[in-house]
Amino acid sequence: MPPSLRDLPQIQSLLDQPNVAQVAARYSHGETVAALRDITGQLRSALLSGRDCELPDFAGNLFADTVVAAIEAMRTSSLRPVVNATGIIIHTNLGRARLAPSALSAMQAVGAAPTNLELNLDTGKRGSRHDHVEALICDLTGAEAAVVVNNCAAAVLLSLMATAGGRSVVASRGELIEIGGSFRLPDVIAQSGATLREVGTTNKTRVSDYADAIDADTAVLLKSHTSNFKIVGFTAAPARGDLAQLAAEREVILIEDLGSGVLIDLSAFGLTDEPVVADILKAGVDLVMFSGDKLLGGPQAGIIAGRRDIIASLKAHPLMRAVRIDKLSLAALDATLRLYRAPFDPLKEVPVLAALSQPLARVKERGHALADDLRQLGIADVAVQQTAAFVGGGTLPEQDIPSFAVCVALPGLSAHQLMAALRQGDTPVIGRIERGEVLLDMRSVSDAELPAIIRTFKHIANR
Ligand SMILES: *Cc1c(COP(=O)(O)O)cnc(C)c1O
Repeated sequence: MPPSLRDLPQIQSLLDQPNVAQVAARYSHGETVAALRDITGQLRSALLSGRDCELPDFAGNLFADTVVAAIEAMRTSSLRPVVNATGIIIHTNLGRARLAPSALSAMQAVGAAPTNLELNLDTGKRGSRHDHVEALICDLTGAEAAVVVNNCAAAVLLSLMATAGGRSVVASRGELIEIGGSFRLPDVIAQSGATLREVGTTNKTRVSDYADAIDADTAVLLKSHTSNFKIVGFTAAPARGDLAQLAAEREVILIEDLGSGVLIDLSAFGLTDEPVVADILKAGVDLVMFSGDKLLGGPQAGIIAGRRDIIASLKAHPLMRAVRIDKLSLAALDATLRLYRAPFDPLKEVPVLAALSQPLARVKERGHALADDLRQLGIADVAVQQTAAFVGGGTLPEQDIPSFAVCVALPGLSAHQLMAALRQGDTPVIGRIERGEVLLDMRSVSDAELPAIIRTFKHIANR
């Protein structure tokens, strides 16, 4: 006869059994009860759903092992480090930028002790959290003033609310982007209380289109980086300087949402569509905003730089409190920005830029080191092959960077099964599938992570 709900023992009677009592003595009564509730709850749903289900031998050692595994799982947090072998250097699902050691120690220092976050040490009076990084951002971008919020999406929303709420925003049809499910520019403009005036066409927008659309109600001309797509062929967009001149003449504000802003020229690494923030401000853009955790290589943050009067109005806006940056991110951002100044070389010190700029020969060497170690294990077929990595984080998908990957196959496992097994290691390894094969891209992996990859393969072999 198939088991029924009546065959499920009570928690208390399980606790009274010697096998479970031993677990409770080793761990704790509370954790054991929680694990038993979890296990019996799953069995109950299985029975109720009518699925074929076998009940375990509740008095046996195997059941005690299941309880221990459930307790261990509850002790492990769901959020943990993984190895990014996808080849996408700034992977939003994998938490974007890896932080520099100096940024990590800054977070540690500020997290472990009280800080002068909002205390002016000279006067002993209340200070502003914005003061800590403003001068640094101005120095690196040439901006008059700057302010930092929680992320770039918040930066766009706050900026539009403060400059255009209740009035209209003129934007090109070719730039009305969606960055990810919940960030669609037309929706953000609507949320800010402004009205969107679309101008031009999908492929061509001229300065005259903007000029014709400006009326007494217009507050802002909005330019945005098209980030994750590109219109090619018969296209036109106004030069930034021309748009800036128009905005100045007609006394409206020119705002540019850059997404992944860069502070130094990265065109030598194939990133020709990433204008440097300082150049954008020099061209006359009033306000520019960009992410802290994309190409900048820092923590999640939204940096807004530009005209002093506009930045002052952002700082005073009621929404500011809701989108303000926290002290840990602020500390990490400050430390990251310092790596862009002497005596440091950001291409060496900022991990995102180091991954992007490391010579192909180094990437290949790492691939061979991993391949050799994997061959020693004798469980997988391995080959090192040249491939293409990507910057990610909204930087153009076609701007690929030469890379090397280790192609791995395990006898008896499909590519999808191997990917799933790699995700189950103590340190999950996230690769990618290309033409039916599992690739571990070495451009987004660091040397220090190779032992963790080997451990994960050992774990798979021992299952
Ligand atoms: C990524 C991006 C954003 C959002 O930035 P977050 O820091 O993720 O909030 C906004 N605009 C553009 C153009 C982007 O590329």
